[in-house]
Amino acid sequence: LNYRNTGFITSAPDIRHLPQDTGVEIAFAGRSNAGKSSALNRITDQKGLARTSKTPGRTQLINMFEVTQGCNLIDLPGYGFAQVPLELKIKWQKALGEYLQKRECLKGLVVLMDIRHPMKDLDQQMIFWAIESRLPVLVLLTKADKMKSGARKAQLLKVRESSKSFGGDVQIELFSSLKGIGLDQVRRKLDTWFGP
Ligand code: GDP
Repeated sequence: LNYRNTGFITSAPDIRHLPQDTGVEIAFAGRSNAGKSSALNRITDQKGLARTSKTPGRTQLINMFEVTQGCNLIDLPGYGFAQVPLELKIKWQKALGEYLQKRECLKGLVVLMDIRHPMKDLDQQMIFWAIESRLPVLVLLTKADKMKSGARKAQLLKVRESSKSFGGDVQIELFSSLKGIGLDQVRRKLDTWFGP
């Protein structure tokens, strides 16, 4: 697919307000500041496509983008803001879990993690939910350019080794929006999930 043709479709305040459950959807998730917006912008080659609301505590929107008819990318709100009230956190986590488990058109989950701080509790929770729903997962270790080549490879192997215990379809790759590391691989993976 040509990801450069991706365009904004709609925003929803929560999962219940997403458009109807049709076509093929691939969701992007990650802790806030993991580099999710930068990754979406790089993959689609559009600087302003995804924007982050960096205001903690404010309800963030789910954004839907269309690559081509019936092929959508979902930008889920970043999780893990320390300052968000517990009640809101729990509400959001419940909603994310429900979305991963109930959305029929969802065919893959991309989880973005800063290569220097991978696999925090909520990251693992997202992966668990996906596996429970037999959803394949692509983990991108973002900002890979911030590590030297040797350390970067060692970190990749370490995360790959530890994620074997998830037991599901979980692929781990390096990514850098800044340097384009892993870009072709991500696009190819999205292609296979979107299908022919
Ligand atoms: P989000 O909150 O997950 O959407 O994260 P952003 O995409 O807004 O990125 C958070 C911060 O990390 C910003 O300051 C980005 O400039 C920086 N960042 C994102 N991707 C990269 C990357 O590949 N390399 C480097 N060095 N910095 C990055």
